[in-house]
Amino acid sequence: MKHYILFGPPGAGKGTQAALMVEKFNLRHISTGDLLRREIKAGTELGRQAAALIEKGNLVPDEVVEGMIAGELAAHPHVKGFIYDGFPRTVAQAEVLDKLLADRGEAVTAVISIMIDDEMVLSRIKHRALLENRKDDADESIIRTRIANYHAKTEPVIGFYKAEGKYNEINGEGAIEEIFERILSVL
Ligand code: AMP
Repeated sequence: MKHYILFGPPGAGKGTQAALMVEKFNLRHISTGDLLRREIKAGTELGRQAAALIEKGNLVPDEVVEGMIAGELAAHPHVKGFIYDGFPRTVAQAEVLDKLLADRGEAVTAVISIMIDDEMVLSRIKHRALLENRKDDADESIIRTRIANYHAKTEPVIGFYKAEGKYNEINGEGAIEEIFERILSVL
């Protein structure tokens, strides 16, 4: 089974590119952000706790998202593979994913990192705030917290996958189709 990770800062276009990959390769898309927003909408206890963190631009605890990933893997045994979008966001999460996959006799196939700089993160998210109703997109100081958390907690994941020889980086600037072509060229 294939296990592709779409990596990158907030606003890099991971969700958009994941949707194109799903269409082309018939994979199952797992977005931890979408799963968390679903819990919030449903008004669950997990959703309430997650909302307090997400709305401030902070990450939810590793165990919460790791549990969601384990649940998704178990729930879809017959798919060709998965695309992870917004996960792993910490080295601890990357380690747990390796463990979950190793228990199935599988491994991460490749990491595709969509890179944009901090200024573009800010402008992309401000634009998205006009299209989608996400509280964590609406306020510049929250976006800046997310950028800071990305550098402090998520960026170290790059080194983790470089050490495994699975890391591929592409330029995330440009048109959606151009970026998709870059993804296809590294796969
Ligand atoms: P996203 O839709 O991927 O931008 O995620 C929105 C928010 O959900 C993030 O800013 C985090 O607060 C939370 N979140 C999503 N995925 C994760 C994850 N893998 N680990 C921790 N928090 C996450």
